[in-house]
Amino acid sequence: MYILPEVKKYNSKEGKFIFNSKVTVGISDGIYSQGLNLLKHHLNPFGFEIIKSVKPCLNADVLHISDSEKKEYYKIDISDKRIKILCTDSLSFRNAISTIIALMTSEKGIFSVPCCEIEDYADYPYRGFMLDVARQYIDIELIKERIVLLAKAKYTVMHIHLFDTERYAIKSEAVPALNINPIFRQYTKDEMKELVAYAKSFGITLLPEIDLPGHGLYVLEALPELKCVQEGKPVGIWDVCVSNRKTYEIIDLLVEELTTIFDCDYIHMGGDELSFYDMKDSGYWPAWYECDRCRKLAEKNGYNTASDYYCHFVRKVYDIVKSHGKKLMIWNDSVDISKSPDLPRDILIHFWRVAVETRGPHDGCSMQRFLEEGFNVVNSFYEETYADDYISESRLAKWTPISSPEIDLKYSGKVLGGEICAWGIRNHFDYTLPSNLFLFANRVYNHKPTDLIESRAALSRQLLCSDIDYLNIFEILGGCLIPLSAEKKFCEDAEQNLDKVNEAIEKTTRKLAEGRYDALILKPIINCLEELKYSLTVQKKEDIENGR
Ligand SMILES: [Zn+2]
Repeated sequence: MYILPEVKKYNSKEGKFIFNSKVTVGISDGIYSQGLNLLKHHLNPFGFEIIKSVKPCLNADVLHISDSEKKEYYKIDISDKRIKILCTDSLSFRNAISTIIALMTSEKGIFSVPCCEIEDYADYPYRGFMLDVARQYIDIELIKERIVLLAKAKYTVMHIHLFDTERYAIKSEAVPALNINPIFRQYTKDEMKELVAYAKSFGITLLPEIDLPGHGLYVLEALPELKCVQEGKPVGIWDVCVSNRKTYEIIDLLVEELTTIFDCDYIHMGGDELSFYDMKDSGYWPAWYECDRCRKLAEKNGYNTASDYYCHFVRKVYDIVKSHGKKLMIWNDSVDISKSPDLPRDILIHFWRVAVETRGPHDGCSMQRFLEEGFNVVNSFYEETYADDYISESRLAKWTPISSPEIDLKYSGKVLGGEICAWGIRNHFDYTLPSNLFLFANRVYNHKPTDLIESRAALSRQLLCSDIDYLNIFEILGGCLIPLSAEKKFCEDAEQNLDKVNEAIEKTTRKLAEGRYDALILKPIINCLEELKYSLTVQKKEDIENGR
């Protein structure tokens, strides 16, 4: 049976395992809690009880393997009597459970999985999704639902972009000045801690990002003393002064506060979009060149470029982050990697773009070069990973974190994985649909290309936990990457059949009314179907008028 993410080995056997209303498990908590939470979250709304028993139908044991190449390795053996899992750690157990959930079908309320033997592991440890809460407030409960979905798709990281030109998303006790006039409601520290714990309980790590020294409009309004200074007067709207002691004092306070909230090994300090050659006359060009303090710093150290100033900033921030027991992660584009940079090599590079004429160091945005220089990289190349804007289904089906941008494959071990990004300026969150997340998940879990036709059927089942005879919803919609906007013309390749669409709307709406299905998944699908219905109706009318 095809599921997303695809498993490495699948041997089918005769028969199926049917879930009783009481699902007995022979596993204790501890390393199994994440997988158990996922199973409970999935089955409880349908009236199932998960209970511990000495005669379990679902049993798991720890398997010790020495092959370190195989990350999150697990095996499942399903017979008509029981499900046996062998796992290597808590994450591999969670993945095993998400595989079992993906295999589930329901027929008239009876849930079953096919008898089979499975062997599986992940090709990349870093499988991330980025959520932009700096540009929009997203209800905590909605984020929690996304977290469960990420766990079902075997993700490991939810990167939250907390800080941007609009606001700081957390109500800071350490730097209260940042709480002045936020456009949106800020999350309290307790709410964020609750989210971290919730994510952890499903095997997802929350990675916090403060985006500095650029994207500084909000912070410079709240803390004008962080601006550069020209002839005694504050200048610049985009970047904080990198030669001001206060800049680092504030960052130190913020990082310290973040370590009391997040348990991630890394702090992401952003650092993107600092050299806008096309905006040289605007306030978006770094003020460092005009700043009395920064120029002195440049003279003393021989700095010539924005990248030199930026690396100075990164070295200081690296020390701060390290002093709080954390590691540093940054976006790639402000480091000119055409030369060997004076930066510690244990900084994790988040790669998002290659060099373009007007932005960033002209020759200095190469993923290959970062790898040659000894950095580890997470690949979020925008053409492949920015949800909705650029992703095409057929291209994504073949993409892996080591395929684009192209690299010498001898460095593939230094590419830790990939991350799909949902930027708030485009309201991706509303329509970065679950199907999108699952398709991407497969690309960071498996080198093997995705079978798009199989995926459509698999995701109809996985996302809607649908009855066996249920419509293949993504086939009707013409693909798994469903954009909500009409201009994307998602119906172009959709089956031109109004009856099928009407039937799908009727069935999906009924499922939504049952209340046990995730409204976050069903509502956008219904909206897409309604749009498809509209365009098919218009087309049908035109056909009649034109006598076709
Ligand atoms: Zn300055």
